[in-house]
Amino acid sequence: MPEAVPTREIFRNFSFVMQMLFYVVSFSAIAVFLYGSYLRVKKYRRGHSAYRFDNLGKRIIKAKIIVLKNASVWKRDALAGFAHTLVFWGFAVLFVGTVIVALDHDLLRFFDVHLLQGEFYLWFSLVLDVFGVLFLIGLVLMMLRRSGTGQPQLDYTRVDLKEDQYDRSGYKRDDRIFLWLLLLIGLSGFFIEGFRIAVDRPEFEAWASPVGWFLANLFDSLGMSDSGNTFHAGTWWLHGIFVLIFVAYIPFSKAMHMLLDFANLVFTDELAAQRLPKISEEDMKKGMGYGSIEDFTWKELLDFDSCTKCGRCHIACPARAAGTVLSPRDLILDLRTYADSTIGVSEWFRQKFDGGSRWPDPGKNGVKVAGQVIKKETLWACTTCMSCVESCPVGIEHLTSIVQLRRRLVDEGSLDDNLQDALMNIGDYGNSFGQPERARGKWIQGLDFKPKDVRKEAADYLWFMGDYAAYDPRVQALSRSVARVLNKIGIDFGVLYEGEKNAGNDVRRVGEEGLFEMLVEDNLAVLHKAKFKEIFTTDPHTFNTIKNEYPEFGGNFTIYHYTQLLANLIDDGKLTFSKKLDYKVTYHDPCYLGRYNKETSAPRKILKALGVTLLEMPRCGENTFCCGAGGGRIWMDDSGMEERPSEMRIKEALGLGTFDYFVVACPKDNAMYTDAIKTAGQEGKFEIRDMIQLVEEAL
Ligand code: SF4
Ligand code: SF4
Repeated sequence: MPEAVPTREIFRNFSFVMQMLFYVVSFSAIAVFLYGSYLRVKKYRRGHSAYRFDNLGKRIIKAKIIVLKNASVWKRDALAGFAHTLVFWGFAVLFVGTVIVALDHDLLRFFDVHLLQGEFYLWFSLVLDVFGVLFLIGLVLMMLRRSGTGQPQLDYTRVDLKEDQYDRSGYKRDDRIFLWLLLLIGLSGFFIEGFRIAVDRPEFEAWASPVGWFLANLFDSLGMSDSGNTFHAGTWWLHGIFVLIFVAYIPFSKAMHMLLDFANLVFTDELAAQRLPKISEEDMKKGMGYGSIEDFTWKELLDFDSCTKCGRCHIACPARAAGTVLSPRDLILDLRTYADSTIGVSEWFRQKFDGGSRWPDPGKNGVKVAGQVIKKETLWACTTCMSCVESCPVGIEHLTSIVQLRRRLVDEGSLDDNLQDALMNIGDYGNSFGQPERARGKWIQGLDFKPKDVRKEAADYLWFMGDYAAYDPRVQALSRSVARVLNKIGIDFGVLYEGEKNAGNDVRRVGEEGLFEMLVEDNLAVLHKAKFKEIFTTDPHTFNTIKNEYPEFGGNFTIYHYTQLLANLIDDGKLTFSKKLDYKVTYHDPCYLGRYNKETSAPRKILKALGVTLLEMPRCGENTFCCGAGGGRIWMDDSGMEERPSEMRIKEALGLGTFDYFVVACPKDNAMYTDAIKTAGQEGKFEIRDMIQLVEEAL
């Protein structure tokens, strides 16, 4: 007798009626899926326009690489990354396998083509078995991770409401259903295979379907093989039903992230936080920022739905750590819940609030998104540190939404008194200190030379100083150090004196777009007339806005942070040190340099050249922890915080043991940490030093 060709029957022992019934149920599930997907697209179409289709090919390739490597999920959470990779690849291979089975059975056979037989079938079956096992291992790891304690990012507790004011049990149910459905689909698939093999015992399955073979042996030993066909039919239907429930469940649940997150990564703006959106004249007429949910762009609505509630942004946020009412995760989820309740698509598993709703009926008085849906205390707590954006594995742009809502609060005059004063000072005098413009050059008193005025005299470099370097008495001494160092090594530089105004980075992040544009216009008018080749600045905030935002207003300059300038001079051999410093130090990466602009190597290059021993804090580089000053927070009252971010950072540094200096490279950091070391009661443990102080000492 010729040996049977290796293959398997799809509708084994199924009558014609049963097969038809399966197709009817399948098409119903697919119809629910398509309807849910249609509702989502309809909802995004109600959002404001946003152009995210430039370089579409490149965007898709980049998102594919991130997704295929699971790169963003591995970042800072190896266990989550490992489990996700197993589930992702297991699911992907099983999905492709199912598509091949469907094609083979429902299409190709009509052309007398049979893919799933012979050697191809054997390898196909083996690959599916192996990836099926990896899939199950990944799911079990995820379940264990979610069931374990000590994972603050997976705890859905809100920071702004008491436990009896909200109900997030739906989120937990959704997590469980999602994982359990996948687990049941995987297990039932193996059971079908096991019962089929237990009945037929084809020899080739011993290596082509090792898991099925193992289960067949188990069923034999349990005496189940005699009824193998009945068990096979039962598990076949169970498997089919689990799969079809899953298909219908996708658009209304967490499972939708499988589709949305790829789209969100494709359309994400890599400079979303670094370069905030301009307001068009047409939008300006409706009022600054976002007043209603329909003001959000389709990309922002997509952001809200893409959140997987992984909690990475929640634990990275300094405002949450400080005990304020802001959690970037909850802000995104609240906007999602509100969008769902007003412009379409209801998640099956949503958060609920005491009394049914946390915000008034949108149909009645018109709900304010800024102030009612998202409380103003929540919006003003943000330091714009960008940790949320940087840590989010699915490309959500929290910061643009926060600033758009702040713009509306500013428009309505709903802001902190101190902040209002600072903005008025900037508007009236061009600086947040409220000092006369001509006092901007006073910092040079004590220097034995006068830096050039580049409005009158040409220089290689223009030093755009920023308010703190020019006006804050604590920082003025550091500015003189910078000037002395550059002068000593023969760098040709100058400043704008009273021609400079606040560059506007934090003004923009506060939401005062009108004032920001005015500052840019004034600064550009001076910059375009001044005589210089390149710019450097000691202020990372100024660095960010001139580098990333001024070009949109016609200001295209090459700008360096002073650590970059010094590192380049070291490379060129123009900056050498006559002595090595025998200090132990730690270095604090400023958010606007390390995270916003990914410059983490230049400061370390200088420290290496200085000969100091660098001890890295646990949160360093792009994962740095905010000092709490950004986004205008330095001008606001922070008395309501449980612990200031700067004090937490001082304690983090203390965890390194004994060292000499906490090195900073931002004037605001200098001010923040000089205060924090006192308020944290840690004076004398180490000193705060600006990088330039060490450089000058070593010269
Ligand atoms: S930017 Fe920073 S402070 Fe603001 S929400 Fe994000 S993590 Fe929190
Ligand atoms: S916003 Fe991003 S980082 Fe935050 S919980 Fe959602 S998916 Fe995670």
